[in-house]
Amino acid sequence: MADNESSAEIDAAPPPPAESVKPPSNGKSPAGDSNPSRQWVRLAVQSGFIVSVLLVGWQFHLFVISLGDTSGAPLADRPESVEAWLPISSFMSLTLLAKSGIVNTVRPAGLVIFCLILLLTVAVRRGFCSWVCPIGTLSEYTHKAGRKVLGRNFTINRWIDYPLRAIKYLLLAFFLWAILQMPTRGLYTFIHGDYNRIADVKMYLLFANISMLTICVFAALIVLSAIFKNFWCRYLCPYGALLGALSLLSPITVRRDPAHCGDCGRCSKVCPNSISVSKASRVKSAECTACYSCVSACPKPGALGVSIGRSKRTISLLVYGVITVAAFVLVTQAARAVGYWQSDTSDAQYRELYHRKDEIGHMRTPGAMQSAAPPRRMDADAFRRAHQRHAAKLRLQQGGIGQQQSSERANRDMRSTE
Ligand code: SF4
Ligand code: SF4
Repeated sequence: MADNESSAEIDAAPPPPAESVKPPSNGKSPAGDSNPSRQWVRLAVQSGFIVSVLLVGWQFHLFVISLGDTSGAPLADRPESVEAWLPISSFMSLTLLAKSGIVNTVRPAGLVIFCLILLLTVAVRRGFCSWVCPIGTLSEYTHKAGRKVLGRNFTINRWIDYPLRAIKYLLLAFFLWAILQMPTRGLYTFIHGDYNRIADVKMYLLFANISMLTICVFAALIVLSAIFKNFWCRYLCPYGALLGALSLLSPITVRRDPAHCGDCGRCSKVCPNSISVSKASRVKSAECTACYSCVSACPKPGALGVSIGRSKRTISLLVYGVITVAAFVLVTQAARAVGYWQSDTSDAQYRELYHRKDEIGHMRTPGAMQSAAPPRRMDADAFRRAHQRHAAKLRLQQGGIGQQQSSERANRDMRSTE
């Protein structure tokens, strides 16, 4: 997907070796790292998102504990943004929406956050990875810690690096193939099925009752991330691959002005994604995560900036951070305000699913995927009508769990759709 780091116009002169990098004229950038004082905005944004992820995780923990409580006490609030951790479910919802026009009400928050990330990537590149994603943040600080302990990060030979980078695109291709070829009925059935409704709880339980194998896999990833820069993001993350591919549509690029450049090579050296910034006039690589490390490290004013298209106007680190945070706050609050945020899975359903959690697995066969769906192949309008009838029927069945209100609403809906 990406070339060797910078697919833009490449200047003929190779970058100087790292050893020949001279100290910056302003004396502000410490050798081997981007200037931390210029990166405080990104650090603040990363910290804010990490804190919010921890708070959401704690609230979700309380929710799962309350699911197992048999005293009859009401459930703890479920933080809907936990659905951001289920991008495959969100991608299926988006595919269903595109194929049939049916708007998913099982995981609306997940769909909102997923679409926001995709659109933000098309608009301002892959900043999600280096500003928002907690795994990206963990990966970044793991390789920085590794450099402190080992004295350096190691690089993988480019002949091995290329096939390794293909892994994340192969994973992405597999998920795209598996989801896009699914018939509308299959998507519908999965999204409304028991497994999807309780997938967040199952994911929580996977980590709460972590197996030795999972611990070993995480330990191996942490060690590899300490040795090699951004190991997970660079080689394995299919979400990063999707965002990288979409980021190629973005007009935002890191631009180097050779007239101002001092050819010191600091930008290439600090890039966490090993992009040869000092060789390019514009960095268009799918690996660029708009982290501004290169810009912060550059000692020459005007030599390096993040700009829109070929314009010389640059977007400062602060403005980029404000755009990122504002997009998340405004879009999620707007979704709440219009009522498209809360899952339609009722507390009673959650309790019932929780008690059957060990029986609920993936629907692997096409037959199982379609068994509960509207019954025939239909055009989009017919499918939508069948969806309304089917949803009403499901609500009626779920009303048997003890929800009189829900049954009445389902009866009403069924009458209105017949
Ligand atoms: S250091 Fe520069 S080129 Fe490298 S990922 Fe960050 S913004 Fe992109
Ligand atoms: S853009 Fe800045 S950091 Fe990169 S080589 Fe030129 S002067 Fe050095």
